[in-house]
Amino acid sequence: MSSAGEKRIGKLYRKRVWPSIFILVFFGVACVATFAVFLYLFVMCIMGTKVVGHYEDAQQVSGILSALMDGGDTLEEAAEEMHDYILADRDICVLDRDRNIVLLTGDSEPDFGMRLQFAVGRDFTAVADSKSFIAADEGLRTIQAIPVRDIVGSVFEPMGRGETRAQWLDETVIRQDYWLRAPFRDQEYALYVKCSLQAQRQDIVYVYLFGFGVMALLMIPMILLFVNTIRTALMQRKMSSLIYLDTVTGGRNWMYFQNYAHRILCRIWNNKKTFALVNLHLERYQNYRACYGVKAGDELLEAMNGFLNARVSKNETFARYEGADFGLLLTCAGENDEERQENCRKRVRSLLAELTGLRPNQKIHFHAGIDMIPPYADQDSKWYHRRKDADVEQLYTYANAARLESDGMEEQRITFFDHDMLGRQKWERWVEDNMEAALHNEEFQVYLQPKYSPASGKLVGAEALVRWISLSTGLITPSHFIPIFERTGFITQLDDYMISRVAKMQAEWMIQRRKMIPVSVNVSRAHFAQEGLAEHICELVDAYGPSHELIELEVTESAFFDDKEILVETVKQLKAYGFRVSMDDFGAGYSSLNSLKDIPLDVLKLDGEFFQGDEEGAKRGEIVVREAIRLARDLDMCVVAEGIEKKEQVDFLARQGCDMIQGFYYAKPMPVEEFEKKVEEDA
Ligand code: C2E
Ligand code: CA
Ligand code: CA
Repeated sequence: MSSAGEKRIGKLYRKRVWPSIFILVFFGVACVATFAVFLYLFVMCIMGTKVVGHYEDAQQVSGILSALMDGGDTLEEAAEEMHDYILADRDICVLDRDRNIVLLTGDSEPDFGMRLQFAVGRDFTAVADSKSFIAADEGLRTIQAIPVRDIVGSVFEPMGRGETRAQWLDETVIRQDYWLRAPFRDQEYALYVKCSLQAQRQDIVYVYLFGFGVMALLMIPMILLFVNTIRTALMQRKMSSLIYLDTVTGGRNWMYFQNYAHRILCRIWNNKKTFALVNLHLERYQNYRACYGVKAGDELLEAMNGFLNARVSKNETFARYEGADFGLLLTCAGENDEERQENCRKRVRSLLAELTGLRPNQKIHFHAGIDMIPPYADQDSKWYHRRKDADVEQLYTYANAARLESDGMEEQRITFFDHDMLGRQKWERWVEDNMEAALHNEEFQVYLQPKYSPASGKLVGAEALVRWISLSTGLITPSHFIPIFERTGFITQLDDYMISRVAKMQAEWMIQRRKMIPVSVNVSRAHFAQEGLAEHICELVDAYGPSHELIELEVTESAFFDDKEILVETVKQLKAYGFRVSMDDFGAGYSSLNSLKDIPLDVLKLDGEFFQGDEEGAKRGEIVVREAIRLARDLDMCVVAEGIEKKEQVDFLARQGCDMIQGFYYAKPMPVEEFEKKVEEDA
């Protein structure tokens, strides 16, 4: 999946739970506030109705007093007499215009410093009672004046003995005295009547019931929301385990690895640590699946996952990439870089060895590529930075590039990444991408390197060597692309092209009546193993029509270790068609005299390596060359010495009766026109 896609999934799944939590908290706060407001209003409503009643009483008192005073009573007399009218004692307090108390009955007085308010839609002027409200806190003069704790306590008081439920409910649990101002004789006086605010147990029960009712109503959506949030959180966990699940191994998948490995690398306490990103690859996994079945293949991957899971510590991680490739992020301890690398190698080696043991009766083997991730330190290594920019995918690509170096090899291999490796691989890719177009555009050109007779000093032959004159890169020598062509199989197309080119050139020489020089062409070992090669070459040459004897085919000595039967057959057929065949690079690598015995070759090309080395080595080389030449002569073979750069070598070879010499001593490979000039000069 693309990294943008992964980011989108990550966001989506992070987003899911937060809105739910936010809504839950918001709703919770709203519920508590609503509950408090409702309860407050309800309590105020109960209180308010009571206060309204008290106000009516106070108005009555005021009316009676006023009437009595209208009848001629003084204020005191009217207060005395009032008892008869309302058949009860009412404490009153009267203030004159200057707010001096002119009359006060009862044993307490209004506390004018403490005004009370009741939210009942009407303004009452009420003040606290000096006795009742002494405990009331400064500043808490409204609803808080009602002693909530008392209410709670008294409401739960158990029923008394012999008391009925109705009596119990009717019991007064709160009593709060206060003074209520009533309109009295206009502006002359201010009348305050002492009232008692009482709450029966049933009032409190109503408050409780109301509170519970509101609470219950609010709790339903609250619970639903809560359940939804929990469900979302659980779903998110499930989703994350699904998003990060590798369905083949049952473990974590690559997306998890990328995220988690990055997190590990970014941890501040990991700043100074060295890590290694390992690409672990099970070789020939597809073959394993084909032979043992898909299920067995999957089970093997599952077993690998389980094994790695047990070997990877907390500050490390791993996951399957694809196929049978795993990525591991491991920590590397050690005093210095070398030690850390060595420790890492040892650890990976033992992992590979143990993994091989997962299937004791089946041969499985692994390769590993490792990219070391040193700390990001500044120049004097005093300050270590967080690896915020670490690109796990890129690091894995490097580990993979290192691993690819041992692709296809039989034994267990561990390769560390270096940047040359990447350069090489990039080059290989460039070659692979461009080779076909290059062939089509005729970017491959024939260069000819002359072969001279040491006896006569005359130019007697040539070897065709390819040069890639790339339109974009310029001249590229064969060592840079031939091995790649051999690996990809493209070499057969190049060989065909070279044979055709040489045949065409020979045909042109014939038409131009030039001196006919035999030219040898290299045929790769991959090509030589093909059946019907002789006919094929014949067709290529005959398309231009030069004489077959003028063309020699060089096959490298190492090809003779391949399927000898086909080789011998091809050589015989080529010879039957009149071509000459030579054994190239004789003496480079491991020579086998047997191949000389079995294959009827025309030419033996002695490798330049014989003549290299120190004085002692060169002396011994000379002995071998002498014997090789003798052997070739006895076998009726022509001998060509290659890579000859010095006069002494030429003289020695001449003495030994070597037929031809090809080397920089005489000439380097050159373009055809230059070669043609050389032939003319030589004539
Ligand atoms: P080779 O077939 O052994 O070709 C001889 C190589 O030795 C040539 O390298 C040549 O330039 C070099 N050489 C010749 N004389 C001297 C000398 O005195 N000193 C030194 N140091 N080197 C000398 P070149 O052209 O780079 O080719 C390298 C190899 O690439 C060839 O080795 C051959 O194996 C392969 N090759 C070249 N052209 C073709 C081709 O058209 N087809 C195939 N299949 N392989 C080719
Ligand atoms: Ca050659
Ligand atoms: Ca050679």
